[in-house]
Amino acid sequence: MSKSLNVLGLKVPVQIKKRIVVGNMECYGVYRPHRKTIEIHSPRDKATLIHEAFHALCDRLGIGLDPMIEEILANAVELLITENFKVIQKK
Ligand SMILES: [Zn+2]
Repeated sequence: MSKSLNVLGLKVPVQIKKRIVVGNMECYGVYRPHRKTIEIHSPRDKATLIHEAFHALCDRLGIGLDPMIEEILANAVELLITENFKVIQKK
């Protein structure tokens, strides 16, 4: 897997982390907007990478979606891609 994604011309590093905590919740992945970086637990987990790439895209576009709406769209895009293209699913 590449160690970065190209998000509309912005190089977004992808870091593999053993433990990812957001707030008080452990997650499969996260996009850190202040660092413009994606962290994922498993390098094989393309579904989470797609999800976090969507968050990076929203940040890149600067569209300022309501966080709940952005999360619904991120989940929907993740499903749309994983249900129609060959990608490795979350465990
Ligand atoms: Zn999300």
